[in-house]
Amino acid sequence: MIINVLELLPEELIQQLLDIGEKEYRAKQILNWVYTKHTTDFNEMTSLSEELRTKLQSILSITIPTIITKSSSSDGTTKYLLSLQDGSKIEMVIIPNGKKNTLCISSQVGCARKCEFCATAKLGLTRNLETHEITSQVFQAIKELGNDKLTNIVFMGMGEPLDNFDNVIKAIQIMQHDLCFNFSPRRITVSTSGVIPQITKLADTGLKLKLAVSLNSAIQTKREQLMPISKTYPLSELKKTLIDFRKKTPYRITFEYVMIKDYNIGRKDVKALLKYLGDISCKLNVIKWNKVDDLPYETPSDSEIDRFISSMSVLSSAVTYRKSRGADIDAACGQLAAKNI
Ligand code: SAH
Repeated sequence: MIINVLELLPEELIQQLLDIGEKEYRAKQILNWVYTKHTTDFNEMTSLSEELRTKLQSILSITIPTIITKSSSSDGTTKYLLSLQDGSKIEMVIIPNGKKNTLCISSQVGCARKCEFCATAKLGLTRNLETHEITSQVFQAIKELGNDKLTNIVFMGMGEPLDNFDNVIKAIQIMQHDLCFNFSPRRITVSTSGVIPQITKLADTGLKLKLAVSLNSAIQTKREQLMPISKTYPLSELKKTLIDFRKKTPYRITFEYVMIKDYNIGRKDVKALLKYLGDISCKLNVIKWNKVDDLPYETPSDSEIDRFISSMSVLSSAVTYRKSRGADIDAACGQLAAKNI
């Protein structure tokens, strides 16, 4: 079986090399070609003999998804439609913001979580992404942006990352390893719809990263309507789990809240949200609902948004209004559906 280098931690690559009678230091050379020079062809690895390059190609590959289309928004956001080896399509988005460039990556082809307001949910789940299909999005983005330009990675593209737990964890280990992508833990955010057992499992791995939770309502019945996952994993349990999670990590948890007109930004919603977040050390990111065809929701007006946000100001937590980026190319939150398939 041929293994993708982007799937391997350095110690695993070393083992592969030892298994074919090669020296350990070769791994460092290969990793340097891949992660510093962004080479995807063993024949370009001129510090290796021709014989070794041929030998490596019989056990290893460096395959990355093909970019099918690249759409640029007027605000600088770029959405990439990528094709995987089996023909599945996923999307990733690069969002520039001053000196920051954030990459929003996918963790699954589609999603199983059925959130009512989300375009990806309408696709259903096709499959989990392999580890290399996650890391290769980072690889592609760095190739596109140039060295040292990519500053942040968020798992907010297609899929529920915690439903693809093992591959996501391994991909993050590769993102953080100093011989691989060398990303600092505080620059990687995993966003979840609230898969309670996996949040606990994540805390137990000891892996450092930032956690974001898509809340969208602090009223149980309403959240159940918006996010069916809440029937299995209710708000009260979610809160307990997050308080435990917070004890084990250095970073505050971010709650994400999509504002939907006449639905989750009224007085009762505010009251419930203030109560829910009041005693957790957290951040709150609010965003307006981005239009998705055929869904019966509406985006609130600017004054409704202002009212909702100012009612949150009593929270001691930091509240930020995240302006939607890339909405003109369907690249904004919840609009990723790999549409031009
Ligand atoms: N499954 C994970 C990762 C996807 S992140 C999660 O739920 O967190 C996608 C984010 O976009 C979530 O915070 C979700 O609440 C938000 N979102 C989904 N549809 C949206 C829409 N139409 N407009 C704005 N945000 C949306």
